[in-house]
Amino acid sequence: MIRARRARIVATLGPASRAPDKVLALAQAGADVFRLNFSHGTHEDHAATLEAIRAAEAVVERPLAALADLQGPKFRLGTFQAGRISVGPGARLRLDLDPTPGDSHRVYMPHPELFAALSPGAALLLDDGKVRLKVLDCGPDFAETEVIQGDGLSNHKGIALPGAVVALSPLTPKDREDLAFALRLGVDWVALSFVQRAADMAELRQLVQGKAAVLAKIEKPAALTDLSAILDLCDGVMVARGDLGVELDPEEVPVAQKTIVRAARRRGIPVIVATQMLESMISAPVPTRAEASDVANAVYEGADAMMLSAETAAGQFPLEAVSIMSRIIERVERDPNWPGLMDAEHAWMEEGDADALVAAARKAAESSSTACLAVYTTTGTTALRLARERPLQPVLALTASVNAARKLGLVWGLEPRVAETPKGLDDLTRVAASMAADLGLAEPHSRIWILAGTPFGSPGAANLLRLAHAPAKGR
Ligand code: PGA
Ligand code: MN
Repeated sequence: MIRARRARIVATLGPASRAPDKVLALAQAGADVFRLNFSHGTHEDHAATLEAIRAAEAVVERPLAALADLQGPKFRLGTFQAGRISVGPGARLRLDLDPTPGDSHRVYMPHPELFAALSPGAALLLDDGKVRLKVLDCGPDFAETEVIQGDGLSNHKGIALPGAVVALSPLTPKDREDLAFALRLGVDWVALSFVQRAADMAELRQLVQGKAAVLAKIEKPAALTDLSAILDLCDGVMVARGDLGVELDPEEVPVAQKTIVRAARRRGIPVIVATQMLESMISAPVPTRAEASDVANAVYEGADAMMLSAETAAGQFPLEAVSIMSRIIERVERDPNWPGLMDAEHAWMEEGDADALVAAARKAAESSSTACLAVYTTTGTTALRLARERPLQPVLALTASVNAARKLGLVWGLEPRVAETPKGLDDLTRVAASMAADLGLAEPHSRIWILAGTPFGSPGAANLLRLAHAPAKGR
Protein backbone atom coordinates (compact mmCIF):
# COMPACT_ATOMS: atom_id res chain seq x y z
CA MET A 1 0.00 0.00 0.00
CA ILE A 2 1.76 3.12 -1.30
CA ARG A 3 0.76 6.60 -0.27
CA ALA A 4 0.40 9.12 -3.06
CA ARG A 5 2.06 11.83 -1.01
CA ARG A 6 5.43 12.76 0.44
CA ALA A 7 4.41 14.39 3.74
CA ARG A 8 3.48 12.03 6.55
CA ILE A 9 0.69 11.88 9.12
CA VAL A 10 1.11 11.29 12.85
CA ALA A 11 -2.09 10.21 14.59
CA THR A 12 -2.35 10.28 18.37
CA LEU A 13 -4.14 7.24 19.72
CA GLY A 14 -6.51 7.45 22.67
CA PRO A 15 -9.93 6.29 23.84
CA ALA A 16 -11.52 7.21 20.50
CA SER A 17 -9.06 5.27 18.39
CA ARG A 18 -6.92 2.70 20.17
CA ALA A 19 -9.09 -0.39 19.59
CA PRO A 20 -7.38 -2.69 17.06
CA ASP A 21 -10.03 -2.22 14.35
CA LYS A 22 -9.80 1.57 14.71
CA VAL A 23 -6.00 1.58 14.55
CA LEU A 24 -6.18 -0.49 11.37
CA ALA A 25 -8.78 1.84 9.88
CA LEU A 26 -6.57 4.87 10.65
CA ALA A 27 -3.57 3.17 9.01
CA GLN A 28 -5.68 2.36 5.96
CA ALA A 29 -6.86 5.98 5.85
CA GLY A 30 -3.20 7.03 5.71
CA ALA A 31 -1.74 7.40 9.21
CA ASP A 32 1.99 6.68 9.05
CA VAL A 33 3.04 7.13 12.67
CA PHE A 34 1.04 6.50 15.82
CA ARG A 35 1.65 8.52 18.96
CA LEU A 36 1.21 6.89 22.38
CA ASN A 37 0.63 9.86 24.66
CA PHE A 38 2.02 9.02 28.11
CA SER A 39 0.26 12.07 29.59
CA HIS A 40 -2.84 9.87 29.50
CA GLY A 41 -3.65 6.19 29.77
CA THR A 42 -2.15 3.31 31.73
CA HIS A 43 0.79 1.12 30.82
CA GLU A 44 -1.70 -1.65 30.01
CA ASP A 45 -3.46 0.72 27.58
CA HIS A 46 -0.19 1.54 25.84
CA ALA A 47 0.92 -2.08 25.64
CA ALA A 48 -2.40 -3.06 24.03
CA THR A 49 -2.18 -0.06 21.69
CA LEU A 50 1.29 -1.02 20.49
CA GLU A 51 0.05 -4.54 19.86
CA ALA A 52 -2.76 -3.08 17.75
CA ILE A 53 -0.24 -1.01 15.77
CA ARG A 54 1.93 -4.03 15.03
CA ALA A 55 -1.14 -6.04 14.00
CA ALA A 56 -2.29 -3.24 11.67
CA GLU A 57 1.20 -3.11 10.16
CA ALA A 58 0.95 -6.76 9.14
CA VAL A 59 -2.32 -6.00 7.33
CA VAL A 60 -1.32 -2.81 5.51
CA GLU A 61 2.09 -4.29 4.59
CA ARG A 62 4.09 -1.15 5.20
CA PRO A 63 6.06 -0.21 8.31
CA LEU A 64 4.12 1.78 10.89
CA ALA A 65 6.07 3.74 13.49
CA ALA A 66 5.12 4.00 17.16
CA LEU A 67 6.11 7.17 18.95
CA ALA A 68 6.04 7.28 22.77
CA ASP A 69 5.47 10.84 23.97
CA LEU A 70 6.72 11.43 27.53
CA GLN A 71 4.74 13.95 29.54
CA GLY A 72 7.76 15.87 30.90
CA PRO A 73 7.62 18.35 33.77
CA LYS A 74 4.17 19.89 33.55
CA PHE A 75 3.82 22.20 36.58
CA ARG A 76 0.47 22.51 38.32
CA LEU A 77 -1.07 24.55 41.13
CA GLY A 78 -2.57 22.87 44.19
CA THR A 79 -6.23 23.05 45.10
CA PHE A 80 -8.70 25.60 46.47
CA GLN A 81 -11.05 25.07 49.42
CA ALA A 82 -14.00 25.91 47.20
CA GLY A 83 -12.56 24.16 44.14
CA ARG A 84 -12.18 27.50 42.42
CA ILE A 85 -11.70 31.21 43.09
CA SER A 86 -12.50 34.45 41.31
CA VAL A 87 -9.59 36.83 40.89
CA GLY A 88 -9.51 39.81 38.58
CA PRO A 89 -6.82 42.23 37.47
CA GLY A 90 -5.28 44.15 40.38
CA ALA A 91 -5.95 41.40 42.93
CA ARG A 92 -3.07 39.96 44.97
CA LEU A 93 -2.40 36.22 45.09
CA ARG A 94 0.32 34.61 47.19
CA LEU A 95 1.89 31.35 46.01
CA ASP A 96 3.56 29.20 48.66
CA LEU A 97 4.68 25.71 49.65
CA ASP A 98 1.84 25.07 52.08
CA PRO A 99 -0.24 22.13 50.81
CA THR A 100 -3.41 23.29 52.58
CA PRO A 101 -6.16 24.09 50.03
CA GLY A 102 -6.02 27.74 49.03
CA ASP A 103 -8.44 30.68 48.87
CA SER A 104 -8.58 33.97 47.03
CA HIS A 105 -5.46 35.20 48.90
CA ARG A 106 -3.09 32.27 48.62
CA VAL A 107 -2.56 28.90 46.91
CA TYR A 108 -0.11 25.99 47.01
CA MET A 109 2.48 25.82 44.23
CA PRO A 110 4.17 22.47 44.89
CA HIS A 111 7.39 23.22 42.98
CA PRO A 112 10.36 24.66 44.95
CA GLU A 113 12.32 24.80 41.68
CA LEU A 114 9.78 27.27 40.29
CA PHE A 115 10.23 29.62 43.26
CA ALA A 116 13.97 29.40 42.66
CA ALA A 117 13.49 30.51 39.05
CA LEU A 118 11.33 33.56 39.92
CA SER A 119 12.41 37.14 40.43
CA PRO A 120 10.43 40.36 40.99
CA GLY A 121 8.81 41.51 37.76
CA ALA A 122 8.68 37.94 36.33
CA ALA A 123 5.43 36.69 34.81
CA LEU A 124 3.56 33.47 35.61
CA LEU A 125 1.00 32.07 33.19
CA LEU A 126 -1.71 29.84 34.59
CA ASP A 127 -4.38 27.75 32.91
CA ASP A 128 -2.86 27.78 29.39
CA GLY A 129 -2.23 31.50 29.63
CA LYS A 130 -5.76 32.53 30.59
CA VAL A 131 -4.46 33.98 33.88
CA ARG A 132 -1.31 36.10 34.03
CA LEU A 133 0.40 36.98 37.30
CA LYS A 134 3.27 39.42 37.93
CA VAL A 135 5.74 38.67 40.72
CA LEU A 136 6.04 41.58 43.18
CA ASP A 137 8.26 39.90 45.74
CA CYS A 138 9.54 36.37 46.16
CA GLY A 139 11.75 33.99 48.12
CA PRO A 140 12.64 30.29 48.13
CA ASP A 141 9.19 29.34 49.46
CA PHE A 142 6.80 32.10 48.43
CA ALA A 143 5.86 34.60 45.75
CA GLU A 144 3.62 37.65 46.19
CA THR A 145 1.92 38.30 42.89
CA GLU A 146 -0.50 40.69 41.26
CA VAL A 147 -3.14 39.43 38.83
CA ILE A 148 -2.59 41.16 35.50
CA GLN A 149 -5.16 39.27 33.46
CA GLY A 150 -7.83 36.64 34.05
CA ASP A 151 -10.97 36.18 36.06
CA GLY A 152 -10.67 32.90 37.94
CA LEU A 153 -8.70 29.79 38.78
CA SER A 154 -9.67 26.24 39.67
CA ASN A 155 -7.85 23.20 41.04
CA HIS A 156 -4.64 21.85 39.47
CA LYS A 157 -4.29 24.43 36.72
CA GLY A 158 -1.04 24.32 34.71
CA ILE A 159 1.75 26.81 35.34
CA ALA A 160 4.25 28.26 32.87
CA LEU A 161 7.12 30.65 33.48
CA PRO A 162 7.59 32.41 30.16
CA GLY A 163 11.22 32.74 29.25
CA ALA A 164 12.60 31.27 32.47
CA VAL A 165 14.90 28.25 32.42
CA VAL A 166 13.95 26.07 35.37
CA ALA A 167 16.81 24.18 36.98
CA LEU A 168 15.31 20.75 36.76
CA SER A 169 15.77 17.44 35.00
CA PRO A 170 13.36 17.29 32.08
CA LEU A 171 12.54 13.71 33.03
CA THR A 172 10.30 13.34 36.06
CA PRO A 173 10.21 10.04 37.97
CA LYS A 174 7.03 9.23 36.02
CA ASP A 175 8.81 9.93 32.72
CA ARG A 176 11.65 7.61 33.71
CA GLU A 177 9.22 4.79 34.46
CA ASP A 178 7.27 5.47 31.28
CA LEU A 179 10.47 5.55 29.24
CA ALA A 180 11.73 2.23 30.61
CA PHE A 181 8.31 0.74 29.89
CA ALA A 182 8.13 2.16 26.36
CA LEU A 183 11.60 0.84 25.56
CA ARG A 184 10.62 -2.59 26.85
CA LEU A 185 7.57 -2.47 24.58
CA GLY A 186 9.88 -1.64 21.69
CA VAL A 187 8.60 1.73 20.45
CA ASP A 188 10.43 3.25 17.49
CA TRP A 189 10.54 6.90 18.59
CA VAL A 190 10.62 8.59 21.98
CA ALA A 191 9.57 12.23 22.30
CA LEU A 192 10.52 14.39 25.26
CA SER A 193 8.23 17.25 26.30
CA PHE A 194 9.28 20.70 27.54
CA VAL A 195 12.90 20.35 26.45
CA GLN A 196 14.71 23.49 27.59
CA ARG A 197 18.33 22.92 26.60
CA ALA A 198 20.69 20.51 24.88
CA ALA A 199 21.59 18.82 28.17
CA ASP A 200 17.98 17.61 28.41
CA MET A 201 18.36 15.68 25.16
CA ALA A 202 21.75 14.38 26.26
CA GLU A 203 20.09 12.98 29.37
CA LEU A 204 17.36 11.33 27.29
CA ARG A 205 19.90 9.84 24.86
CA GLN A 206 21.85 8.46 27.79
CA LEU A 207 18.76 6.64 29.06
CA VAL A 208 17.54 5.45 25.66
CA GLN A 209 20.90 3.93 24.71
CA GLY A 210 20.06 3.78 21.03
CA LYS A 211 17.03 1.55 21.60
CA ALA A 212 14.76 4.10 19.88
CA ALA A 213 15.14 7.30 17.91
CA VAL A 214 14.76 10.45 20.03
CA LEU A 215 12.76 13.55 19.31
CA ALA A 216 12.62 16.92 21.10
CA LYS A 217 9.29 18.66 21.48
CA ILE A 218 9.97 22.37 21.13
CA GLU A 219 7.36 23.96 23.37
CA LYS A 220 9.44 26.27 25.57
CA PRO A 221 10.82 29.61 24.38
CA ALA A 222 14.11 28.68 26.09
CA ALA A 223 14.47 25.79 23.63
CA LEU A 224 14.28 28.23 20.72
CA THR A 225 17.30 30.09 22.08
CA ASP A 226 19.26 26.84 22.24
CA LEU A 227 17.73 25.28 19.12
CA SER A 228 20.87 24.46 17.21
CA ALA A 229 22.57 22.66 20.12
CA ILE A 230 19.33 20.79 20.88
CA LEU A 231 18.89 19.63 17.28
CA ASP A 232 22.48 18.37 17.27
CA LEU A 233 21.32 15.73 19.77
CA CYS A 234 18.00 14.89 18.09
CA ASP A 235 16.92 12.32 15.54
CA GLY A 236 13.76 14.35 14.99
CA VAL A 237 11.90 17.37 16.31
CA MET A 238 8.33 18.49 16.92
CA VAL A 239 6.93 22.00 16.68
CA ALA A 240 4.64 21.60 19.71
CA ARG A 241 2.48 24.62 19.06
CA GLY A 242 0.03 23.96 21.88
CA ASP A 243 2.33 24.60 24.80
CA LEU A 244 4.65 26.81 22.77
CA GLY A 245 1.68 29.10 22.17
CA VAL A 246 1.04 29.46 25.90
CA GLU A 247 4.33 31.22 26.54
CA LEU A 248 4.80 32.89 23.18
CA ASP A 249 2.54 35.61 21.83
CA PRO A 250 0.33 34.29 19.04
CA GLU A 251 2.21 36.21 16.33
CA GLU A 252 5.46 34.50 17.37
CA VAL A 253 4.20 30.93 16.84
CA PRO A 254 4.19 30.86 13.01
CA VAL A 255 7.66 32.40 12.96
CA ALA A 256 8.92 29.80 15.44
CA GLN A 257 7.35 27.07 13.29
CA LYS A 258 9.17 28.27 10.17
CA THR A 259 12.46 28.61 12.08
CA ILE A 260 12.25 25.07 13.48
CA VAL A 261 11.14 23.49 10.20
CA ARG A 262 13.95 25.19 8.31
CA ALA A 263 16.58 24.23 10.89
CA ALA A 264 15.45 20.60 10.91
CA ARG A 265 15.38 20.37 7.13
CA ARG A 266 18.85 21.83 6.90
CA ARG A 267 20.10 19.08 9.22
CA GLY A 268 18.12 16.37 7.51
CA ILE A 269 16.15 15.25 10.55
CA PRO A 270 12.37 14.80 10.37
CA VAL A 271 10.19 17.61 11.72
CA ILE A 272 6.57 17.26 12.85
CA VAL A 273 4.18 20.22 12.93
CA ALA A 274 1.77 19.56 15.78
CA THR A 275 -1.36 20.66 17.56
CA GLN A 276 -4.72 22.13 16.59
CA MET A 277 -4.15 21.38 12.91
CA LEU A 278 -7.74 20.21 12.45
CA GLU A 279 -8.96 21.10 15.96
CA SER A 280 -12.59 21.75 15.02
CA MET A 281 -12.81 18.16 13.73
CA ILE A 282 -12.87 16.98 17.36
CA SER A 283 -16.60 17.57 17.06
CA ALA A 284 -17.26 18.22 13.37
CA PRO A 285 -16.82 15.99 10.29
CA VAL A 286 -15.21 18.79 8.26
CA PRO A 287 -12.41 21.24 9.11
CA THR A 288 -12.55 25.01 8.94
CA ARG A 289 -10.97 26.63 5.91
CA ALA A 290 -8.29 28.13 8.15
CA GLU A 291 -7.38 24.66 9.44
CA ALA A 292 -7.13 23.29 5.89
CA SER A 293 -4.81 26.20 5.12
CA ASP A 294 -2.72 25.49 8.22
CA VAL A 295 -2.10 21.89 7.12
CA ALA A 296 -1.39 23.03 3.56
CA ASN A 297 1.05 25.66 4.80
CA ALA A 298 3.07 23.05 6.69
CA VAL A 299 3.21 20.96 3.50
CA TYR A 300 4.41 23.97 1.50
CA GLU A 301 7.10 24.51 4.15
CA GLY A 302 8.37 21.00 3.43
CA ALA A 303 7.72 19.66 6.93
CA ASP A 304 8.07 15.88 7.15
CA ALA A 305 4.87 15.24 9.06
CA MET A 306 1.72 16.82 10.44
CA MET A 307 0.22 15.62 13.69
CA LEU A 308 -3.32 15.05 14.91
CA SER A 309 -3.83 15.12 18.68
CA ALA A 310 -7.29 15.18 20.25
CA GLU A 311 -8.75 14.98 16.73
CA THR A 312 -7.81 11.29 16.60
CA ALA A 313 -7.28 10.50 20.31
CA ALA A 314 -10.57 11.69 21.71
CA GLY A 315 -12.60 13.28 18.93
CA GLN A 316 -15.77 12.09 17.25
CA PHE A 317 -14.25 11.88 13.75
CA PRO A 318 -10.75 10.36 13.93
CA LEU A 319 -11.02 8.61 10.56
CA GLU A 320 -12.34 11.70 8.81
CA ALA A 321 -9.52 13.77 10.32
CA VAL A 322 -6.83 11.46 8.90
CA SER A 323 -8.60 11.24 5.52
CA ILE A 324 -9.00 14.96 5.11
CA MET A 325 -5.43 15.60 6.23
CA SER A 326 -4.24 13.10 3.64
CA ARG A 327 -6.35 14.76 0.95
CA ILE A 328 -5.03 18.24 1.80
CA ILE A 329 -1.43 16.99 1.59
CA GLU A 330 -2.04 15.23 -1.73
CA ARG A 331 -3.71 18.30 -3.16
CA VAL A 332 -0.84 20.61 -2.23
CA GLU A 333 1.67 18.18 -3.71
CA ARG A 334 -0.25 18.33 -7.02
CA ASP A 335 0.01 22.13 -7.06
CA PRO A 336 2.36 23.07 -9.94
CA ASN A 337 4.01 25.56 -7.54
CA TRP A 338 4.92 22.89 -5.02
CA PRO A 339 7.98 21.30 -6.75
CA GLY A 340 9.62 24.70 -7.06
CA LEU A 341 9.12 25.35 -3.36
CA MET A 342 10.72 22.03 -2.42
CA ASP A 343 13.58 22.72 -4.81
CA ALA A 344 14.17 26.24 -3.49
CA GLU A 345 14.95 24.94 -0.04
CA HIS A 346 17.11 21.94 -0.83
CA ALA A 347 20.55 23.11 -1.73
CA TRP A 348 22.76 22.53 1.24
CA MET A 349 25.62 20.62 -0.26
CA GLU A 350 28.18 19.71 2.31
CA GLU A 351 31.74 18.58 2.00
CA GLY A 352 31.07 14.87 2.43
CA ASP A 353 31.23 12.44 -0.46
CA ALA A 354 27.92 10.90 0.52
CA ASP A 355 26.14 14.25 0.23
CA ALA A 356 27.71 14.83 -3.16
CA LEU A 357 26.43 11.44 -4.29
CA VAL A 358 22.99 12.09 -2.83
CA ALA A 359 22.78 15.42 -4.64
CA ALA A 360 23.81 13.66 -7.83
CA ALA A 361 21.07 11.07 -7.32
CA ARG A 362 18.48 13.77 -6.94
CA LYS A 363 19.74 15.51 -10.06
CA ALA A 364 19.85 12.27 -12.07
CA ALA A 365 16.30 11.49 -11.07
CA GLU A 366 15.11 14.77 -12.59
CA SER A 367 15.55 13.24 -16.02
CA SER A 368 12.27 12.29 -17.61
CA SER A 369 11.10 8.70 -17.22
CA THR A 370 12.74 8.30 -13.82
CA ALA A 371 10.02 6.63 -11.82
CA CYS A 372 11.63 6.52 -8.42
CA LEU A 373 14.80 6.41 -6.42
CA ALA A 374 15.85 3.50 -4.29
CA VAL A 375 18.28 3.61 -1.44
CA TYR A 376 19.85 0.78 0.49
CA THR A 377 20.32 1.92 4.05
CA THR A 378 21.56 0.01 7.07
CA THR A 379 20.84 2.44 9.90
CA GLY A 380 18.67 4.86 7.90
CA THR A 381 21.29 7.59 7.58
CA THR A 382 21.69 7.49 3.80
CA ALA A 383 17.92 7.50 3.35
CA LEU A 384 17.70 10.60 5.57
CA ARG A 385 20.37 12.37 3.53
CA LEU A 386 18.42 11.62 0.37
CA ALA A 387 15.11 12.75 1.89
CA ARG A 388 16.83 15.98 2.93
CA GLU A 389 17.29 16.77 -0.75
CA ARG A 390 13.49 16.57 -1.18
CA PRO A 391 13.62 14.62 -4.47
CA LEU A 392 10.30 14.79 -6.27
CA GLN A 393 10.18 11.08 -7.07
CA PRO A 394 9.22 8.61 -4.36
CA VAL A 395 12.13 6.97 -2.58
CA LEU A 396 12.08 3.25 -1.90
CA ALA A 397 14.21 2.93 1.25
CA LEU A 398 15.38 -0.65 1.64
CA THR A 399 16.83 -1.88 4.89
CA ALA A 400 17.39 -5.26 6.48
CA SER A 401 16.25 -3.87 9.82
CA VAL A 402 12.54 -3.67 10.58
CA ASN A 403 13.36 -1.14 13.30
CA ALA A 404 15.14 1.15 10.85
CA ALA A 405 12.24 0.80 8.40
CA ARG A 406 9.67 1.76 11.04
CA LYS A 407 11.71 4.74 12.16
CA LEU A 408 11.88 6.02 8.59
CA GLY A 409 8.09 6.00 8.38
CA LEU A 410 8.15 9.52 9.80
CA VAL A 411 10.35 10.88 7.03
CA TRP A 412 9.27 12.94 4.02
CA GLY A 413 9.00 10.99 0.78
CA LEU A 414 10.47 7.70 1.98
CA GLU A 415 8.72 4.38 1.31
CA PRO A 416 10.62 2.17 3.73
CA ARG A 417 10.55 -1.57 3.16
CA VAL A 418 12.41 -4.46 4.71
CA ALA A 419 14.68 -6.32 2.28
CA GLU A 420 17.59 -8.67 2.73
CA THR A 421 21.06 -7.24 2.40
CA PRO A 422 22.01 -7.65 -1.28
CA LYS A 423 24.55 -10.34 -2.09
CA GLY A 424 26.09 -8.33 -4.88
CA LEU A 425 25.46 -5.63 -7.43
CA ASP A 426 23.17 -7.72 -9.64
CA ASP A 427 21.12 -8.81 -6.66
CA LEU A 428 20.83 -5.20 -5.48
CA THR A 429 19.62 -4.02 -8.87
CA ARG A 430 17.18 -6.85 -9.35
CA VAL A 431 15.61 -6.60 -5.88
CA ALA A 432 15.23 -2.82 -5.95
CA ALA A 433 13.75 -2.83 -9.45
CA SER A 434 11.31 -5.64 -8.84
CA MET A 435 10.16 -4.20 -5.50
CA ALA A 436 9.62 -0.80 -7.07
CA ALA A 437 7.58 -2.42 -9.82
CA ASP A 438 5.59 -4.61 -7.45
CA LEU A 439 4.73 -1.63 -5.26
CA GLY A 440 3.54 0.32 -8.25
CA LEU A 441 6.34 2.87 -7.92
CA ALA A 442 7.78 2.13 -11.35
CA GLU A 443 6.13 1.39 -14.69
CA PRO A 444 7.77 -1.31 -16.87
CA HIS A 445 11.09 -0.11 -18.32
CA SER A 446 11.09 3.16 -16.40
CA ARG A 447 14.32 4.33 -14.76
CA ILE A 448 15.22 3.74 -11.15
CA TRP A 449 18.28 5.33 -9.64
CA ILE A 450 19.71 3.25 -6.83
CA LEU A 451 21.95 4.60 -4.10
CA ALA A 452 23.95 2.28 -1.89
CA GLY A 453 27.12 1.87 0.09
CA THR A 454 29.61 -0.96 -0.22
CA PRO A 455 30.36 -3.26 1.45
CA PHE A 456 26.62 -3.99 1.53
CA GLY A 457 25.02 -4.27 4.92
CA SER A 458 27.66 -2.47 6.95
CA PRO A 459 26.89 1.04 8.14
CA GLY A 460 28.83 3.63 6.22
CA ALA A 461 28.47 6.34 3.66
CA ALA A 462 26.90 5.74 0.26
CA ASN A 463 29.48 5.33 -2.46
CA LEU A 464 27.49 3.91 -5.34
CA LEU A 465 24.83 5.27 -7.69
CA ARG A 466 23.43 2.82 -10.19
CA LEU A 467 20.85 3.07 -12.94
CA ALA A 468 18.33 0.28 -13.23
CA HIS A 469 15.17 -0.26 -15.25
CA ALA A 470 11.89 -1.60 -13.98
CA PRO A 471 11.21 -5.09 -15.34
CA ALA A 472 8.68 -5.70 -18.09
CA LYS A 473 5.20 -6.81 -17.04
CA GLY A 474 4.51 -10.50 -16.47
CA ARG A 475 8.07 -11.42 -15.66
P1 PGA B 1 1.10 17.77 23.92
O1 PGA B 1 2.27 18.37 23.03
O2 PGA B 1 -0.03 17.45 23.03
O3 PGA B 1 1.73 16.59 24.55
O4 PGA B 1 0.84 18.88 24.89
C1 PGA B 1 2.05 19.07 21.86
C2 PGA B 1 1.93 20.56 22.09
O5 PGA B 1 2.12 21.06 23.18
O6 PGA B 1 1.68 21.24 21.08
MN1 MN C 1 2.76 20.02 24.90
